[in-house]
Amino acid sequence: MALANKYRPTKFSEVIGQEAAVVALKNIIKNQNFHNGYIFAGTRGVGKTTLGRLFAKALNCSNYDIESGSTCNVCANCEAIQTNSFLDLVEIDAASRTGVDDMRELLESVQYRPSQGNYKVYLIDEVHMLSIQSFNALLKTLEEPPAHVVFILATTESNKIPKTIISRCLQFNLKLVPDGQIAENLQKVFDNEGVKYDDKSLDLLVELAKGSVRDSLTLADQAMSHCDNNLNESEISKLHGVLDLSSTAKLFEAIFSNNVNEVTVELERYQSLDVNYEILFDRALKFLHAEIIRNLKDKEGDAQDMHLYYQFFTNGLIDGKQTGNIRDSFDIAVLRCLSFSENQITVKKKQTEPAIKTAEITEEKIQPTPAPEIKTEAQPQEKEEKKITTNNWLNIFDEIDLSGPARAFFSNLQLDKVEDNKLFFSGSDMFTSRITRENIDDLIVSLNKVGYKNYEVVIEATEAAVKTPSTAWEKKRKEEIIAFKKEILESDLLVNLKHNFGEEITQDKFQVIDHEE
Ligand SMILES: [Zn+2]
Repeated sequence: MALANKYRPTKFSEVIGQEAAVVALKNIIKNQNFHNGYIFAGTRGVGKTTLGRLFAKALNCSNYDIESGSTCNVCANCEAIQTNSFLDLVEIDAASRTGVDDMRELLESVQYRPSQGNYKVYLIDEVHMLSIQSFNALLKTLEEPPAHVVFILATTESNKIPKTIISRCLQFNLKLVPDGQIAENLQKVFDNEGVKYDDKSLDLLVELAKGSVRDSLTLADQAMSHCDNNLNESEISKLHGVLDLSSTAKLFEAIFSNNVNEVTVELERYQSLDVNYEILFDRALKFLHAEIIRNLKDKEGDAQDMHLYYQFFTNGLIDGKQTGNIRDSFDIAVLRCLSFSENQITVKKKQTEPAIKTAEITEEKIQPTPAPEIKTEAQPQEKEEKKITTNNWLNIFDEIDLSGPARAFFSNLQLDKVEDNKLFFSGSDMFTSRITRENIDDLIVSLNKVGYKNYEVVIEATEAAVKTPSTAWEKKRKEEIIAFKKEILESDLLVNLKHNFGEEITQDKFQVIDHEE
């Protein structure tokens, strides 16, 4: 027997995560305060039909305890409902019976008194699928229902139910069940079934269940047969095309430290494993959310970067769902985070080095181009047209105003040669295969703005690019860290420590944590 059936709640007290709705339903029976109809709204697997059946059972149980709100589960009516043989509980799937004739036929039976119990309960699942005519027929009955009839309308999309129907019903919005409660329930089930499991495999199942108790039990079923009742995280991960839970933290560590190579390696690994990108998005968002909260609690200054990263991933998820290419969207979101951090470093460097900047500017000739905000680093001498070469490309890339996916892509490509105003770029297939015409146009426009006119772009896939803006940034960053370490070693504090206490502090005794802050 499937776990989802075996552990389906048989009374209100066994319902998980829908406490508010349960209390309200019990009170309705206790106070005999009935409505014409009830809408149970919520995503799939949160317990809409289960709750509907329990309500039907409570209404018809011969020994129902009003005070505790519990059914006896042994009387003839309880038994019949449990075995799906209760004549006065009519369940209809609106998805398969949408026609007005079906609805008329159904509603004709409404006038007859219940044959077994006290109440006739009509449970219409996916009610938003009904046709307009069917809704109109239903509305007539809902306006003046016989006293012995209860309508329960279950739906995943309550916004598609006509307002006239909604206004005549009492609506319950069933929530996704919190992870903690799903975990607790799974633990109980595993202990009961004699299944071995560890925390990681439990966490993974809870994550995959996404707030649905039913899904959690179905997933548990699969995992149990796959792992022969001895659950382990890596087997379950493989079964569902997900990575182990620590991989998200690893990816972000690489992003935060601007380690382009490691990020690329990770993204390529994801690709080769054919993972579920929707889950990757979920995990990334969860991770960033936790980081934002942590920053807030620790008062670690502004979490602006994190907010921006979060935005990159939410936008990416929406794009991915719209275009159907969720893998590309994920990679682009990651690359945008990377190029944003690079940008930050460049901007900060420019702000903190005014002295050098002025020196450079005075050496420059006055430029004919009316672009005052442009930073003028080592540029070729120019009377006539500005030229791009493989030698000045990295400097040019730092000064152009390029953002978004285009920046992410081109910062990972190498400029191989320039011939007849054609820029020949190469790089790993991971970047080259995804560059769109729009990305190329973005580059051309931003080059135009700083005076590099009439260039065309040619892109080729190669093994891996070596001389890219990204690798240059990374190298620069490493040099900065080395210089910083040297500075610390030569600082008065350390020199004094050594002098006064004989404390020898060497390079390997401390670590520079690269926060960019
Ligand atoms: Zn009973």
